Amino acid sequence: MTNFKQIEENLKKEAKKLLEAGSVAVVLAYTKGADEKHPQPFAAKKADDVANIIFNEYCNHNLARYIVRYAPGTKIAVAVKAADSRAVVVLIQEEKIKRENLILLGIPVSGMKNQKTGEIIDEKTTGGLTNPVVYDVLLGEEIHTGKPVSPYTVLEQYEKMDKDARFAFWKAQFDKCIRCYACRKACPMCYCDPCFIDQTKPRWADKSPQSHGNLMYHLTRFQHLAGRCIDCGECTRACPVDIPLYLFHKKVAKDCEEMFKQAAGMKIEDKLVMVDFRVEDSDKILE
Ligand code: SF4
Ligand code: SF4
Repeated sequence: MTNFKQIEENLKKEAKKLLEAGSVAVVLAYTKGADEKHPQPFAAKKADDVANIIFNEYCNHNLARYIVRYAPGTKIAVAVKAADSRAVVVLIQEEKIKRENLILLGIPVSGMKNQKTGEIIDEKTTGGLTNPVVYDVLLGEEIHTGKPVSPYTVLEQYEKMDKDARFAFWKAQFDKCIRCYACRKACPMCYCDPCFIDQTKPRWADKSPQSHGNLMYHLTRFQHLAGRCIDCGECTRACPVDIPLYLFHKKVAKDCEEMFKQAAGMKIEDKLVMVDFRVEDSDKILE
């Protein structure tokens, strides 16, 4: 099991070193929130800020979410668990950031918990990965559980539903949506400005939480995340009405992986599946 205190100490040490040396303008990490279960993302900008950094089993926020807020060229250090590192890979592939402007402080971790339910989420998100896929400094020993897990097992019972049952299931889920946009806000891959749902000229979709507009918002967002969602689960944990968004994202990710033989955010040198054309690509996407 991960020694969270040791990771926290190592994170503070590296952050202090980088800020004192002026190697980065900011270190993206975590700090205390309302209670132990609600740590917050934190931007340390000077060596004195480092004392406020923490790391525990509830530090689930995907810190890649905050990288795009800084001006291009800003040197940024980011604490990356497996999910955060996969998001960083996609941001690099999409040319939102350059690898040379980042220092990735890798966190190998198991035993992360859902702050709402207390359940261990390791095998439910990021395909059970425990080590970051890319890093400059590793803040602990790599973790090898020897137990590869499929991120898609959870889909089995839903894939057995026929079309009508699936539609009824998702319509009932989306009807609960209050359009708080926490799912969008938590997602490291949702950085469009403006987002399609905020467009007014022309207006693409109804913004009020009505059945039809909810469906439009979610189906468009799922489509925009095809081949890009890195399965961090943050959208679902952020949702105040517990819509299981992860199921839809995982289904799209599974279809993409089957068609294009590539999971999102695993290797910087990969091309994004939706912008890479290969003659041998499946035509199933057109069906
Ligand atoms: S869609 Fe959800 S699971 Fe996928 S990257 Fe965004 S927040 Fe993470
Ligand atoms: S977080 Fe939940 S309630 Fe809020 S917009 Fe997203 S799906 Fe709807």
